Amino acid sequence: MSDNKAGTTHFGYQQVPTGDKARKVGEVFSSVAGNYDLMNDLMSMGIHRLWKRFAIDLADVRPGDSVLDVAGGTGDLTAAFVKAVGGTGRVVLADINNAMLSAGRDRLADRGVCEQQAQFVQANAECLPFEARSFNCITIAFGLRNVTDKAAALASMYSCLKPGGRLLVLEFSKPLSPGLSKLYDQYSFKVLPLLGRLVARDESAYRYLAESIRMHPDQDTLKAMMETAGFERCQVYNLTGGVVAVHRGYRLA
Ligand code: SAM
Repeated sequence: MSDNKAGTTHFGYQQVPTGDKARKVGEVFSSVAGNYDLMNDLMSMGIHRLWKRFAIDLADVRPGDSVLDVAGGTGDLTAAFVKAVGGTGRVVLADINNAMLSAGRDRLADRGVCEQQAQFVQANAECLPFEARSFNCITIAFGLRNVTDKAAALASMYSCLKPGGRLLVLEFSKPLSPGLSKLYDQYSFKVLPLLGRLVARDESAYRYLAESIRMHPDQDTLKAMMETAGFERCQVYNLTGGVVAVHRGYRLA
């Protein structure tokens, strides 16, 4: 989906040809893959682990379930789902970026997760290469923001869910209070690029992070987009004053 000017979309605050966004996002994640986990801990002071724990608990994955972790990156959610589904379930980590997939595969191997327990698939969230109605649960954590055509991704995830299955979107969102918003802007535009420069040697990737968060649909808009894609019983859970939100919706039929 392109917005604003015809044939263009946003990449952070830049307006770029729609067809260029995936490549530009790919360059960001290829550059940060090696430092991704360290940077997550530094930038969020470890709080991303609590946000992910909240989404994992809300996913309520049971032994024997089939779970798809879209834009799964280095596999924090996948690792938890492998434990939850047990020997009879199935977990797939899908990501568009080869460097992030490799980092995820290595990291999960270090945690003792073997190839039989989790599959790794290089795929675009907009057109997932899985059978329709094949997963009990799909998650996308800090991924949807980076996808060019979010409506296509929501439709593709809806199609892959079994009736009764649920989608969880964990993503940065809009702080609920103006005071927090101001503080958060200062942090995002001053501290994040500085950390990016000092630790990951890539200031622009972390400026993109701050900008892409501001361009992402807010809580109500994303909920409406999920409903348009067919999801029902959609609920929003704000975390850390709305800095992050979890959206959960069901495919009922
Ligand atoms: N889910 C992981 C986590 O929460 O730590 C990784 C999140 S990371 C911020 C975003 C991930 O989205 C990257 O691994 C990136 O390659 C992936 N991504 C970006 N665009 C994508 C797309 N169109 N389809 C699938 N994955 C995509």
